[in-house]
This record gives sequence, C-alpha cells and structure tokens, in this order.
Amino acid sequence: MRARGATLHTRARIVIFSPMPLKILTDQYELKAFKLAGYYALDVDWGDGHGSIYPFRDLRPQCPCDACKRVDAAALEDPRTRTPVEISREKEGIRIVWEDDHTSLYPVMMLRDACRCALCAGEQGPVDMYLGKPK
Ligand SMILES: [Zn+2]
Ligand SMILES: [Zn+2]
Repeated sequence: MRARGATLHTRARIVIFSPMPLKILTDQYELKAFKLAGYYALDVDWGDGHGSIYPFRDLRPQCPCDACKRVDAAALEDPRTRTPVEISREKEGIRIVWEDDHTSLYPVMMLRDACRCALCAGEQGPVDMYLGKPK
C-alpha cells in the first residue's frame, strides 16, 4: 500500500519513522480520493480504507468560515446554498464553491471527524460492513 509513495502528502511521509499508533492516525486523515455521489453528496476515500459520504445539505451548515457562523438556519433554506458548482482539492482540505457564490474550505481532519456513518457514529454492527468499499 505504501509503495505508491507519489500519491502521499507530506504529513504521511513523516510517519515512516514514527511508532505504529501515529501511522494509523495519519492514514485515517489521509484523503486519498473524492468524487460525487450522485448530485447530492461528496464521497471521500481515506488512507485507512474508510469511506465517507457527506450530503451537501449537511456540509453547508458545517462551513467553518466566520460568515457562516453568524448566518441563521433560515438563510440556509435557499437550495442554492446546498448546490455545489465547483469542488476542488486544496492543500488544506476540500474547497466547495456554492451556487450562492459562497466558498467553503473544509479542512481534511474536520471532514474525517464529521463522518456520520454507523461506524464513526459509534453504532454497533459488523465492522467490515463499513470499513472500505467494494472496488
Ligand atoms: Zn462559509
Ligand atoms: Zn465513517
């Protein structure tokens, strides 16, 4: 798995000399790939094999910028606030430009911690049901 070193970012390279627990943590926060899940959600693959689905209607209210912290929930009823027009990978995380001209930057670690799948939410279930996805 580590052989594809060219796709690893700087943080992952550091862990080669680190003890195992740190390596696992880093894989967890390594964003390997992302794509659209239909038109309604962002599908993210992580370095530890985990997969996350983030519905856009949930992502917009989580925008970490200062302006969004002051916005009330009613303003987010506008469907344009939940419709992405551009999604890109930045060094810091994933950047989404919304139809209402707002830009959100979601840090990689914040995204992983925001995963609400059954495993991350702490619900009981067979672990391999949620870890990884069929290729
Ligand atoms: Zn915002
Ligand atoms: Zn999860």
